[in-house]
Amino acid sequence: MVWHVPLADMDYGEDEEQAVLDVLRSKWLTMGEVTQTFEAEFCRMTGSKHTIAVANGTLALHLACLAVGVGPGDEVIVPSLSFVATSNAVLYCGASVRFAEVVGAKDLTIDPQSIETLITPKTKAIIVMHYAGFPCRMREILEISDEHGIPVIEDAAHAPGAALEDKALGTWGDIGCFSFFSNKNLSTGEGGVLTCNRDDLATNLRLLRSHGMTSLTYDRHKGHAFSYDVIALGYNYRIDEIHSALGIQQLRKLERNNARRREITHIYWKALKSTGIGLPFEATRVGQPSHHIFPVLLPPHVDRHIFMSSLRDAGIQSSIHYRPIHTFSYYRDKFGAVSLPLTEDIGRREVTLPLFPTMTDEQLELVIENVKTLVV
Ligand SMILES: *Cc1c(COP(=O)(O)O)cnc(C)c1O
Repeated sequence: MVWHVPLADMDYGEDEEQAVLDVLRSKWLTMGEVTQTFEAEFCRMTGSKHTIAVANGTLALHLACLAVGVGPGDEVIVPSLSFVATSNAVLYCGASVRFAEVVGAKDLTIDPQSIETLITPKTKAIIVMHYAGFPCRMREILEISDEHGIPVIEDAAHAPGAALEDKALGTWGDIGCFSFFSNKNLSTGEGGVLTCNRDDLATNLRLLRSHGMTSLTYDRHKGHAFSYDVIALGYNYRIDEIHSALGIQQLRKLERNNARRREITHIYWKALKSTGIGLPFEATRVGQPSHHIFPVLLPPHVDRHIFMSSLRDAGIQSSIHYRPIHTFSYYRDKFGAVSLPLTEDIGRREVTLPLFPTMTDEQLELVIENVKTLVV
């Protein structure tokens, strides 16, 4: 299907092509100087002391859980209104998840009060997810985590370039996890990074990324080392130089592209405000969001399937973020029925409209006109 308005689109051009060619011609294809540069530039953008680049965002979450000590018998509190990777990462460690509620229809991030009620002696970590790049209630969440001595992992997959009180999302908790999947604000196809300020965690994350080995192939190539020891059960979660090179180029466009996403979001909000459609985050206006996606909540009288099909017939792609994780068959079978009324209501009513930096004013107008006629 050729969409008049796709849900998302990449901002790729000659800079990315040249960067890939440069890597190919250098004949050093994995975890070398380009990756180091990407990590350094990501540190500069976020103000984080450490950035550890990895092959994708899912295993960034896995490494984050391992680094804070999540293992069999532990519990981790996660939002249910997220991509399934957020909670899968916990299960990879042999731990179990406790699903928290959202704040409400105006703020789709994790509810700090819900977190508090889920804490048990087994709670080993709290994962929060900055939905659409809007900040979670980090002050309240950190107060709870400090009080109980439980580390916080931020799933910042939606949030590159976003901040709260001028502090980058992904640097508020103990570890931040970013994804650079094709549809994300900073896209490299596959890719991700972890950010953290603690040296001990960073050392551990670097070890786990590459087989628990004390030296890298690149160090040996450069003559810095001849051999290595293995001091932990690590993985091959490395990124390669091509993806890092794309990351460097995309990082340069991030601020401009997030500004355009912001502009589009505000036009949507203004145009749809009096239609009866729910506009999450419109009223809260907290921090500097990255506007990764544009979620709306359909009024009860509008059938979602008909709404989305009608958009599709007009050449407009839409999506759902998300079916709550606790309602998936695998999770229901594993953890039994869980009741999260607010999350479930949002999971039934949410539709994501197209939002991407290269979206034209005409495309935006087409979506707005179609949405308006469908919700009356
Ligand atoms: C995309 C995404 C991930 C996973 O990232 P990948 O790079 O695709 O593995 C995790 N959490 C959220 C909220 C995401 O949107």
